[in-house]
Amino acid sequence: MNLEELLNTVPGPRHKQCKLNVWLATLSEDDRNAFWKAMDNEDIPLRHIWKTIQAIGCPNQESSVRSHRRGDCKTCERKNTNG
Ligand SMILES: [Zn+2]
Repeated sequence: MNLEELLNTVPGPRHKQCKLNVWLATLSEDDRNAFWKAMDNEDIPLRHIWKTIQAIGCPNQESSVRSHRRGDCKTCERKNTNG
């Protein structure tokens, strides 16, 4: 393969979901909404949210949940939030 071919081989658009959203997709819509509602509620400590979702099977690290609270996830950019 020459350089021209390499340069012209553009990867397709990414529809990657981060692990947190893959896990959230396994929840009911009500549960998902409750999660994001809690994330937007600054009265609820991040650690409490993380411990709670971990108890029901969330495989993510606290830092991952934190970055979603901040809207810092580069993968999903909270596109899947329902307000
Ligand atoms: Zn994400």
